[in-house]
Amino acid sequence: MKRRDFLKILTLLASSSLLGVSGSKPKEKILVVGAGIVGVTIAYELSRAGVDVHLIDKKYPGSQASGNSFSWINATYPKLPFNYNFFSQMGIEAYKVLSKEVNLKIKWSGSLEWFEDNEIESDSFVKLEKLMGYKKYTPVEVINSKQASKLEPSITFGDSRRIIFSKSDGAIDTDAAIEELTKKILMYGGKISFPCEYLASNIKSGKLFSIDSSLGEIEATKIIFAGGIDSNALVKKTVLKEPTPGIILRSKSFKKIIDRMVIGPGIHMHQQDDGVIYFGEQDGAPPTHKERLSNKPNNIPDFYKVQHINNMLEKTRTFVKNISDIEIDKISVGWRPLPLDGLPVIGWLPNQKDTYIATMHSGISLAAIVAKLVAQEVLEGTSSSLLDEFRPTRFV
Ligand SMILES: Cc1cc2nc3c(=O)[nH]c(=O)nc-3n(C[C@H](O)[C@H](O)[C@H](O)COP(=O)(O)OP(=O)(O)OC[C@H]3O[C@@H](n4cnc5c(N)ncnc54)[C@H](O)[C@@H]3O)c2cc1C
Repeated sequence: MKRRDFLKILTLLASSSLLGVSGSKPKEKILVVGAGIVGVTIAYELSRAGVDVHLIDKKYPGSQASGNSFSWINATYPKLPFNYNFFSQMGIEAYKVLSKEVNLKIKWSGSLEWFEDNEIESDSFVKLEKLMGYKKYTPVEVINSKQASKLEPSITFGDSRRIIFSKSDGAIDTDAAIEELTKKILMYGGKISFPCEYLASNIKSGKLFSIDSSLGEIEATKIIFAGGIDSNALVKKTVLKEPTPGIILRSKSFKKIIDRMVIGPGIHMHQQDDGVIYFGEQDGAPPTHKERLSNKPNNIPDFYKVQHINNMLEKTRTFVKNISDIEIDKISVGWRPLPLDGLPVIGWLPNQKDTYIATMHSGISLAAIVAKLVAQEVLEGTSSSLLDEFRPTRFV
């Protein structure tokens, strides 16, 4: 598949090809379970096509991984193999299309990444070389610390470090995106209910006709599960491994210090146009916190909050100048939905012809392209070859 073919597909997708699709078919009632970025974007595409769509969430939109994510839209290193990398590149293009329809706050300024651990660095460069073999498809370049310092003067890059500059990456304000998309769903006549938990499907003569939820019975002729880390429970199969936690800090509005996404040793960060800086940790949870984390909380007890904030800012100060007076507004912990083989899980469930699943890590990066393709498959009854490698049938 060539890049121009991908762009052609995106242009087709952008040309409102789905608008009015529902008019020619018996009235479908599509239920989307899960109002994270994936479910919300899918429900948006469906409602825009004029379908009767109902989006439910057991807590509230953006309450799980999406609202506690680092929100980096990335397509380059270390996304391998080629098809996954290219799918992610299309994710970027699809966001550009979506941004014309919905007011999304996305900063497209690329990312800079480097490593202090020599072993990690050399492993990363082996992957990077493979990626650069994709040549023109992947806008990634290796620059030295002097060049990087010109791009980001507030950052101290290691002296002789090689820096990976991924030019097409962006950072999105995910909470704001979810809010805007939910407004559009309602505007197009879709329905959103929360807190509303999916409990079970009701099937007669092999056909889905409703679901049981915590708010009672809801009519549905098709279900799309976009339940993030709850996907195994929803589909009663194992498609995800144990989720891993990650801590995100958001600062109060701060003077502008960086323009690009900075993926430094132990910490990654980006700054939005409103001055808010996001910090994400790379190390993961210490084993001593295992018991406290067994219920997968999104909040952190006060004592640990201070400890985590101090640790993360201390690491940040080793490579960022001028942040001594920064104030942290929010600290949260998110849990990553991690498919068994790392690749997205998207498609109809075998032996359950009315039930579709869409779950993935890098759901922020992929939501726009996934939603376009899912809406097309569900509404037109077609099968997109772009999703061939990501089908749930490889696990269930
Ligand atoms: C710390 C951290 C940093 C990350 N950084 C990035 C990044 O920089 N870039 C990137 O692309 N990805 C990143 N990710 C991954 C990304 O956030 C996720 O892949 C993405 O948010 C998944 O979106 P989702 O909509 O599938 O799931 P979620 O956002 O988790 O939404 C699922 C929703 O389903 C609901 N639900 C579950 N069960 C039911 C039920 N029975 N009934 C009704 N509702 C139900 C939940 O309440 C939830 O709101 C990160 C994740 C974490 C945790």
